[in-house]
Amino acid sequence: MTPPDWSLLLDPPPFPPHGYARIADRLASLLGTKADIVFVQAEAVVALEAVAASLARPGLPVLNIITSPYGGMVGGWLRRAGAEVVDLTAEPGEPIKAEAVAGALDRHPQTALLSLVHAESASGILNPLPDILALARARDIVTVVDAVASAGGHALDIDALGIDVAVIGPQKALGGPAGLSAISLTPRAWALAERPEAPTGSILSLIDLKQGWLDTGRGPLPGMPAPLEWHAFAAALDRIEREGLTAVIERHAVAAAATRRALERLGLALWPAHGAPSNLVTAAVLPEGLDRAALLAALPAEVEITACIGPGTEHLIRLNHTGPRATPIAVARGIEALGAALRQAGVPADTEAALSDLPPRA
Ligand SMILES: *Cc1c(COP(=O)(O)O)cnc(C)c1O
Repeated sequence: MTPPDWSLLLDPPPFPPHGYARIADRLASLLGTKADIVFVQAEAVVALEAVAASLARPGLPVLNIITSPYGGMVGGWLRRAGAEVVDLTAEPGEPIKAEAVAGALDRHPQTALLSLVHAESASGILNPLPDILALARARDIVTVVDAVASAGGHALDIDALGIDVAVIGPQKALGGPAGLSAISLTPRAWALAERPEAPTGSILSLIDLKQGWLDTGRGPLPGMPAPLEWHAFAAALDRIEREGLTAVIERHAVAAAATRRALERLGLALWPAHGAPSNLVTAAVLPEGLDRAALLAALPAEVEITACIGPGTEHLIRLNHTGPRATPIAVARGIEALGAALRQAGVPADTEAALSDLPPRA
């Protein structure tokens, strides 16, 4: 097979100066939100850092939920900006429990900001977002949700749930580019961000985005936008709109369910042991004594099966069925490769039985 002609990626036409507003409106419409949408022209961790740097202020009481290294990073950025951060850490590798959040909010009634990840690509867990946001709404707490992985893979009703800030990356379940991120913000979120000593003149400044783009009629973006990323974002939205977001989410749910059934038939225990799994990656427990690094190294490069990330996940692997991988064929290829690697490592694994309700692999 001849490799693609990557030189076609050179000399892209400029992205139309008024196309950014159109992208924002299409994304808002897909997600069904009336909140403002702004863009950070960088990968999603930069958008998360911008939110923390822009919303936190000295003394701001924050409850920061940690279910993966991402939550730990957000807590660090909030502290750096002077916030009084209380970390609430879930059992290793597991979702947070809504009761634990309620308890923490009762112990810290002054909490003004609550931050959490919706679904974790690091460990394949799903946090009980609606329950947690109901607790925050009842206490009038501004909420920040890292929906980088979950947007497109799970229902994310920003307005009905009362999410004040949602951070969205096109590159996971939405199947888009990795070099751009979107943030939705409500007036309550802007009220926290807008203050005399708010950071400006910085890639981390949401106020710069408001004053330089939202408040000036959403024309050209400040700086020098990377046209390839914007064309790719538009193409990803085309594809999602054609399929329909509900169908995209359903495709992820079907891929996750098929993966879980197949892993159980391979003889692996599913993760998390308690709480809900995500539709994005499925985590499984490796048999006792099996060398995870050696098993993963035996897999072909095109199969996306990797080590879970974060404390408490040292015995776990994750099968990625996000975005373009959320198809029965991609799931079947992953299971087939994993079955072969398990057998090679001396673990009996009946791939045919595991694949029985998945389509034949081409
Ligand atoms: C992938 C991911 C991020 C960060 O995205 P990058 O593209 O690595 O910057 C943040 N949070 C969650 C939950 C993610 O899955």
